[in-house]
Amino acid sequence: MRGLKGKNVLITGASSGIGRAIAEQFAKEGANVSVNYHSSLDDAEETKQAMLESCKAIENCGSRKPVLVQADVSKEEDVTRLFDETISALGGLDILINNAGIQMEGPSHEIEISKVDKMMDVNLRGAYLCARRALQHFVENDVKGVIINNSSVHEVIPRPGYLAYTMSKGGMMNMTRTLALEYARRGIRVNAIGPGATVTPINDDWINDPEEREKIEEFIPMGRAGTPEEMAIVTAFLASDDAAYITGQTLFVDGGLTLYPGFREPIT
Ligand code: NAD
Repeated sequence: MRGLKGKNVLITGASSGIGRAIAEQFAKEGANVSVNYHSSLDDAEETKQAMLESCKAIENCGSRKPVLVQADVSKEEDVTRLFDETISALGGLDILINNAGIQMEGPSHEIEISKVDKMMDVNLRGAYLCARRALQHFVENDVKGVIINNSSVHEVIPRPGYLAYTMSKGGMMNMTRTLALEYARRGIRVNAIGPGATVTPINDDWINDPEEREKIEEFIPMGRAGTPEEMAIVTAFLASDDAAYITGQTLFVDGGLTLYPGFREPIT
């Protein structure tokens, strides 16, 4: 893809799932990557190994020395350190991928408020703290940077039992659109991907249960869950110069989940 080679990229929550696949994709594109992880250095090391593997066949691969930085994106002091360490190690920043996210369920009238706060803090406040710090760097250094938020089909599809998750992703949609408008004249683009059901650790409860998985996949118009790699390539596209005229959009990568699958068969 055009315009990614040599770019400096920070990916939050990149020690597993979609974040790891995004790190590998950017490595293949020849970008320099900072891998943020929350708790497991071993998992972050696995991401690094996967990136080096992806880089093997590429001459002058940018990501031969990926940087690993521990930080909790919901904590402002951690985010400050994450960006300071990333910018100093990579020599700048061109692209932020807000990928870190958590999901907890519970009836809306019963769920502990601490769980609601946690989801909002990580998924929305954390993404904003990172976007804010990236924008400061872009503005101060006149960088025509890019921010990609990893949102969800649940920024538009309601999901009973997952209120805070849907609130955080709905908020992410308006954050994407508002920041895109606010910074468009500076040449800064802000977009999102909206994954559907994807095979990653966040979905361990149904991925490893054949009956549950069949039920979910049957509901998806294309009849299967997505892969982290399918999310990663669209993320890289949105960050690349091939998407130079796209801003403020969420690109759903969902096998048709946002097409109201319940209407597939005539209802009358
Ligand atoms: P995952 O659990 O593998 O990845 C989430 C990552 O976020 C983990 O690496 C985790 O360590 C990190 N993280 C959690 N709290 C953090 C914090 N406070 N600070 C920094 N990092 C933190 O699952 P995934 O599916 O790869 O999720 C990645 C993103 O994709 C999430 O934002 C999720 O909401 C979104 N998403 C996933 C699906 C899906 O079906 N898998 C669908 C739609 C959207």
